[in-house]
Amino acid sequence: MAAERAREGQKLLRGGLLEGMEVAWNEVEVGMVTITISGADKSGALARIASFLVRKGYPLKGQQVVDSPSGAKLVKINIELSQVDRAKLASEIKSLSPEFSLAAVEGAQSGAVPTVKQIGEKFPDVIAMVQAYGESFGADARERELIEAGRKIGAFNYEKEWSFGSPLKMPTALRRTLVPALEGLTRVEASDTEVHFPDSPLCSGKIACCGFLGGFMQGFLDVGPLTANTRVDKIACKTKGDPHCGFKIEYDL
Ligand SMILES: [Zn+2]
Repeated sequence: MAAERAREGQKLLRGGLLEGMEVAWNEVEVGMVTITISGADKSGALARIASFLVRKGYPLKGQQVVDSPSGAKLVKINIELSQVDRAKLASEIKSLSPEFSLAAVEGAQSGAVPTVKQIGEKFPDVIAMVQAYGESFGADARERELIEAGRKIGAFNYEKEWSFGSPLKMPTALRRTLVPALEGLTRVEASDTEVHFPDSPLCSGKIACCGFLGGFMQGFLDVGPLTANTRVDKIACKTKGDPHCGFKIEYDL
């Protein structure tokens, strides 16, 4: 079983999946958000809004005036960002002139389900992304998909950040590499055989997304040359009323 997992981990690395991910991450295109501003009927509104946004530091990628179905003028602006703070932008636009208002924000912002690649790119700042990813699956597939996403990102993170130096055995590897790798994401309490996430932000709501953490640990340990013989199993979850989300870590010494 352990040997099989180790082979799987190696295959994952050699098989080009992670290499492919790495290439893709280097080429990852910057997201684009399109905003629509209403109340732009006076001449010069477009230039006024665009120059204001540039002054505010937004990277503009194009703007145009379009007619709404009712004949009112709308300004549409592409911003080279994958996210904008909608409330902040709305109040900024109001501050320019009360006649302007932010009518829509489209693009990568709200409602978009991130890909595993995008989550890996942002790790460890991925709480909201993992939740969005988990919520995109039905209850029956969610845990499996979260574990799988976690495994890929854990394996990638080990290779990228922790594979230098001489390989560590368990439980040293747990203390010196795995726990620090996870601490950027949330508070971690670990013994040599259990890892607990007392705050577990991935399970702050009703939907359990901590499978991602279990998958991350499994993938991370699978690709470590001396930790492949390790099994990670969920033993507690906040969404089930436990005080933390917890995982049992089993390995042969
Ligand atoms: Zn949980």
